[in-house]
Amino acid sequence: MDAPHASPSCLVCARTSDEVPLLTFAYRGREHCICPQHLPMLIHSPARLAHVLPGADGLSAADHHD
Ligand SMILES: [Zn+2]
Repeated sequence: MDAPHASPSCLVCARTSDEVPLLTFAYRGREHCICPQHLPMLIHSPARLAHVLPGADGLSAADHHD
């Protein structure tokens, strides 16, 4: 059910590469995009992305200052 012209967008803020630089990463066989502003969230608090990145709550954070 993906829209045919869905352009890649940050999985947190949904901004596209028209607005921000987007980084693409693969997770569980799927490709996702994230902007630099939200990349630290993926690194340090992946569980907070579980609602948009199923399984992320099982990832361990890069550090534990939370
Ligand atoms: Zn973002």
